[in-house]
Amino acid sequence: MENDLKITKENYKLVLGLEIHLHLNTKKKMFCLCNADIWEREPNTVTCPVCLGLPGALPVPNEEAIRKTQILGLALGCSLNENSRFDRKHYFYPDLPKGYQISQYKQPLCKEGVVELDNGFKVEIERVHLEEDVAKSFHKKGKTFLDFNKSGVPLVEIVTKPIFSDVKDAVEFCKKVQYIVRFLGIGDVDMEKGQMRLEANISLRTKEMEEKGELASYKVEIKNINSFRFMERAVNAEVERQLELFKKGIIPVQENRGFDEDKGVTVSQRSKEEAKDYRYFPEPDIPSMVFDSSYIESIKKEIPELPYNIKNRFIADYKIPNELAVRLVNNLNKDLLKKYEHMVKLGLDATKVANVLINKKETRSMPDDEFSNYIGGEKNLINDDKLEEVIKKALELNQKAVADYKNGKKNSLQFLIGQVMKETKGNISPDKVKEALLKALS
Ligand SMILES: [Zn+2]
Repeated sequence: MENDLKITKENYKLVLGLEIHLHLNTKKKMFCLCNADIWEREPNTVTCPVCLGLPGALPVPNEEAIRKTQILGLALGCSLNENSRFDRKHYFYPDLPKGYQISQYKQPLCKEGVVELDNGFKVEIERVHLEEDVAKSFHKKGKTFLDFNKSGVPLVEIVTKPIFSDVKDAVEFCKKVQYIVRFLGIGDVDMEKGQMRLEANISLRTKEMEEKGELASYKVEIKNINSFRFMERAVNAEVERQLELFKKGIIPVQENRGFDEDKGVTVSQRSKEEAKDYRYFPEPDIPSMVFDSSYIESIKKEIPELPYNIKNRFIADYKIPNELAVRLVNNLNKDLLKKYEHMVKLGLDATKVANVLINKKETRSMPDDEFSNYIGGEKNLINDDKLEEVIKKALELNQKAVADYKNGKKNSLQFLIGQVMKETKGNISPDKVKEALLKALS
């Protein structure tokens, strides 16, 4: 670093890479037949020899988890590796008593993706891989307890390149990932339940280093960030800490740190391991995986139209402003986006429908006619040509009622209105039907 450069936030820029861990909503755990839904289960009741890590127990990979990871990878713009495998990542920790975690190293399921944020910033993804979660340790009355229910739950890890220079973009990306996972229906990613956890690798560099594409010689990893708000606070606190060190002429050490929410500072946890420390080697109990092109094509077919594409289509087709389209796809799930399109195609105002569906949650479950009523106060979802056609058909099918009406039986009109309403599935106001029917009968 340049010595004559003033050590300020302006001169030292943040370099941030993310590791996002998330649980998939598979039926079974990653390598055994235990139930993967472990929320609020009695500790150590959802376990077996495999996920307890007992010697001799053999892991069998969960196909559903592999497929869901590949779906996510494609949705994040990654390509799928045709050859992939699981590796052992060695480290010892009380929550991992077998001494290694089954993860992926050299051949992850998915690699090199790009996700564009709403502000146009492109997030480059290095890899998306699949591994097993570890047990949970908790401390009570000076003792440490272990709960193995979480051990073996399928865990996806998304690793970005150190691409962020603004923590707000990093938060935005995490929110986007959460949204995409839910949109795809492959995970609940509830952060309060530990189903999504964030880690940020942070270092600082000068403008000159940035221009040369150089990174700092160290990075500090902030572990287990469990909310978007804490991420922003933790990163800002860590940037301050690193700046203070630079002012003293000290280069920060490579280490893992946690965020102390009460004090608003990061605290050292342990020195950060490098890949060589993990002594990765191929998991000998699981054969390597080969995915042929027809399998990969079948996965591609499973990907629904994604929010980003839907957004662009809505702007083009329904002429709504970009900002509103962004809010639509960020606030409505797949089914509600379908409802939005359906209502707009029935002739309702595209902007009005969007605003109501976003802001008035109570309207989301309304049937078409009620929704239309809510929006415009008038039911006119069926155009005149269609109405004429339906009425013509109703009169043909109910000639007795028509004759009765012409003979002065006024009740028959109500019957005919009912028939037309039934045929239009209620997407029109009875008044309008009555008016058109009287015209047809005259
Ligand atoms: Zn098990």
